[in-house]
Amino acid sequence: MRWLSGWVRLVYPPVCRLCEGMAAEWDGFLCAECAAELWRPGERYGACDVIPFVSWMGWLGPYDGATRVAVHAMKFGRQRELARHLGWMLARRMPVHVPRPDLVVPVPCSEPARRARGFDQAEELALGMGEELGGEVACRLLTRRGGGRPQRSLPLERRAANVRGVFGLRSAGAVRSRRVALVDDVATTGATLAAAARLLRGCGALEVSAFVLARTGSWQASRRGG
Ligand SMILES: [Zn+2]
Repeated sequence: MRWLSGWVRLVYPPVCRLCEGMAAEWDGFLCAECAAELWRPGERYGACDVIPFVSWMGWLGPYDGATRVAVHAMKFGRQRELARHLGWMLARRMPVHVPRPDLVVPVPCSEPARRARGFDQAEELALGMGEELGGEVACRLLTRRGGGRPQRSLPLERRAANVRGVFGLRSAGAVRSRRVALVDDVATTGATLAAAARLLRGCGALEVSAFVLARTGSWQASRRGG
């Protein structure tokens, strides 16, 4: 059937999921320009000094340009396959000095958001990361106990209090003595990641790292550790 898929590609060349230009053959999801923006090198992976309970962090880019379009396409355009692809990129870009996690855990979105979208984008990102890293992915290990308004609806100084106590863990045994990677779409203050990481460390996780598609603000990964 290979001749058939070749013919389909010829007649209907795949379109970039971000700008509707022609997708690059080597990527399949993105055109060469959008892909280049998301693959642009930068100091985006390293030791984390800014989010409590998180030892390592990484992100694809600032919440701007192609990264912002990608987040919107995934969340509001309901592009589930794109989310999986972006998760793969997030893992693929991880430099060798960042320790590989034993377990990848998505930060769950709220139940109404999941219902509205039909999927949880962080889960898809985590599954994409897991495919590349070959590690275990534990969807729905972290639970969200309702409450907590959407972080983006709140001023920065109220976000930490908004997510305090909002997460639960189905099985502490699943994280004990393991390196756990948290995955989410966007980090602004890091309060959501800190709340989840605090719970994981409290339940015995050896180390927690955090990976997001985009970060707002001007934080930098520390060069410590590489
Ligand atoms: Zn494009």
